[in-house]
Amino acid sequence: MTDYDREKLRCYCCGQSSEQTILMSTNSFGSPDLDQRPAGMARATAGSWLLECPFCGYVAESIDRGSARARAFLETAEFRAASLEPLPDPAARRFLVRAAQDAYEGDRTAAFRHTLSAAWIADDRKQASQATAFRLRAAEHLGDRPIRSIDVRLELLDVLRRAASWERAATLAEELTAEGLEHPFAPIVAFHRRKIAEKDSSRYTIQQALRRERGNDEATAEMLKLLTHHLQKRRTPDRPM
Ligand SMILES: [Zn+2]
Repeated sequence: MTDYDREKLRCYCCGQSSEQTILMSTNSFGSPDLDQRPAGMARATAGSWLLECPFCGYVAESIDRGSARARAFLETAEFRAASLEPLPDPAARRFLVRAAQDAYEGDRTAAFRHTLSAAWIADDRKQASQATAFRLRAAEHLGDRPIRSIDVRLELLDVLRRAASWERAATLAEELTAEGLEHPFAPIVAFHRRKIAEKDSSRYTIQQALRRERGNDEATAEMLKLLTHHLQKRRTPDRPM
């Protein structure tokens, strides 16, 4: 089950205290989506993955912690632009503010993932064009430089496919295919290639992508282990999840 708690936190950046709703625990039973969106009850908790100081606008998993760079970011035009962006959902805005901070700090993978999380909020609100715009923006954060992490590249492949960015998705899928990836990555890429050829931008889980495989349960378990490790990293490390 999912548990929340109310806690008074002192903001690292401005020193003011505010009551915050904190996600204490949840579960993610089942296969994540191909873009690593978790299953289970965790799926519905995205709104509480980031906290925001109501006084200075600092956004973090725990606003009582931070760095000198985080403080410096609050003085930038990028912060003001992200904070003032008119969005219907505060959770989506928090993800974008945090993504702007990630980009400021040079962490393009975190900027990509936080912007993708904003797309998930838009998905839930049935705002298809907003979700597509966020996916394309997430992809932009990764830029043109080579990406070493295979799981980030697979997430990007899903982001491009779901944003109906067919040409870019097909190019990336071809690159990944040419690399002769091993199981379980190869069947995931093959699944994407089929969906890209069909111009299918729907949501699928990792389990669905591996269903055609023999020994599918074993493959799924292996894939989940390989591809979900960063979910822990994405969440607050010192809170039980
Ligand atoms: Zn503050």
